[in-house]
Amino acid sequence: MKPVVELHQVERIYRSGSRRRQVEVRALDGVSLKIDEGEFVSVMGPSGSGKSTLLHILGLLDRPSSGRYLLAGDDVTALDDEAAARVRNRRIGFIFQAFFLMPRYTALKNVELPLVYRGLPEAERRSRAERALAEVGLADRMDHLPSELSGGQKQRVAIARALVQEPALLLADEPTGNLDSESGREILALFDHLHGAGKTLVVVTHEREIAERSRRVLHMRDGRLVNDEVLG
Ligand code: ADP
Ligand code: MG
Repeated sequence: MKPVVELHQVERIYRSGSRRRQVEVRALDGVSLKIDEGEFVSVMGPSGSGKSTLLHILGLLDRPSSGRYLLAGDDVTALDDEAAARVRNRRIGFIFQAFFLMPRYTALKNVELPLVYRGLPEAERRSRAERALAEVGLADRMDHLPSELSGGQKQRVAIARALVQEPALLLADEPTGNLDSESGREILALFDHLHGAGKTLVVVTHEREIAERSRRVLHMRDGRLVNDEVLG
């Protein structure tokens, strides 16, 4: 198995406050981690333990203060913003708790958007977006606006938008945090399906039920990986 993610002693230090009273927060404190292609990993830990910071670094939304990050073998530690955006667009799908759909765009348009940034021709954009929406079970909702969809359906559109890029890595930060338990279960079933289809998934959650769907649980505390639990 090829590693998709390799972190070597990654630190992320936030500095805030005035010059005289500087406050340092060590959000990640020497995290080393390897994730292979096709793994379904969840990340658990108390609030403030560094889960979102870790995910943002994996998703190239943030940079380590020190340490190294290899994505599918390529060193992406020190890319500038433009290069990071390019790699993110092509290789990473990010799913947020708050969906972040464009309210005036249909489901189909929302899913096409990453491909617009990539400059793909319209017909190809459309057929790929349709395929991604079908994969998440929304073939009959493509022309709906976000306001015409349930929470679980909105999250599925957001997942389709992540999938349409055929990313090497799918990242989700508390993806069921805004959903009722029934919709949450739908999203979990979808993650199972994606894992079965060979996707590499990293999901931050504080719900043990979600973590138990994955095959490996990383436990964080105070910016450190304190336990790497492989489930049967
Ligand atoms: P989690 O997702 O596990 O709740 P975070 O990764 O969001 O934790 O935060 C880890 C630590 O970093 C916390 O102590 C938090 O207050 C701090 N932190 C997060 N983002 C920032 C920021 N932009 N500036 C300063 N401190 C931050
Ligand atoms: Mg968080």
